[in-house]
Amino acid sequence: MNPFRALSTTDRTTLGRLRERGLADRAALHDVLDAGLICHLGVVIDGTPVVLPTGYGRIEETLYLHGSSANRSLAAADGAEVCVTVTLLDGLVCARSVFHNSMNYRSAVIYGTARLVTGDAERRAAVQAITEHLIPGRWDNSRQPSRKEMSATSVLALPLDEASVKARAGWPKDDDEDYELGHWAGLLPITMTVGPAESDPQLKEGISVPAHITELQTQAGGAGTGGS
Ligand SMILES: Cc1cc2nc3c(=O)[nH]c(=O)nc-3n(C[C@H](O)[C@H](O)[C@H](O)COP(=O)(O)OP(=O)(O)OC[C@H]3O[C@@H](n4cnc5c(N)ncnc54)[C@H](O)[C@@H]3O)c2cc1C
Repeated sequence: MNPFRALSTTDRTTLGRLRERGLADRAALHDVLDAGLICHLGVVIDGTPVVLPTGYGRIEETLYLHGSSANRSLAAADGAEVCVTVTLLDGLVCARSVFHNSMNYRSAVIYGTARLVTGDAERRAAVQAITEHLIPGRWDNSRQPSRKEMSATSVLALPLDEASVKARAGWPKDDDEDYELGHWAGLLPITMTVGPAESDPQLKEGISVPAHITELQTQAGGAGTGGS
């Protein structure tokens, strides 16, 4: 798949205001999804719109979410129209006027018909992708899910066919006359960092922090650790 294939141009993914903040290539969507750690799933449950945060993973052009098989939002999403968002907050933008205070960000909105995954191979690959997205290297460094654990897990798939990406970067944009005001203006960058690992007090003796964990710390602020 060509990563630069343009994102969808459906009516509902067409930005209304501030269209110049839209990013239309597929690589931008992948970048946001790969740098984020949580998404928000919007789905209608018994007539009520519900938005819930959850982890996710991506395999090529499919987003995967998972949860307990008792999870109501995943069940309600099966065969339903859903909306998933991922947001990376890059900074607070302090303008001279309250009106122009803002945030620097990258965000993705994905629409589509979700499906509960039923095939064993795809379910397992999805759980692996979600695990690896959160903590790269964890799949091979943990006990992998048993058949019983897999059957207690629901996996939801959403194609990345219909999506939009929007980003703001840079300085505050004040009204011309306000640049003469005496208020401070500028940026407060926000970066997600991974702190030093803390070993479980119940850890068996002689187990040191593994490389895939220390690598996450050294990459703090980069892709795969929350990124932004
Ligand atoms: C961290 C953060 C903070 C924000 N704070 C504010 C705020 O305080 N006030 C405010 O008005 N807006 C804020 N926004 C922008 C907000 O997400 C909307 O883009 C904006 O409000 C326009 O809304 P609209 O209903 O006119 O959308 P429209 O532009 O009409 O939306 C049409 C379509 O464009 C796409 N789209 C719209 N917004 C986004 C987005 N953010 N990311 C990806 N695709 C998008 C979707 O596919 C949507 O269906 C913020 C965004 C982020 C990420």
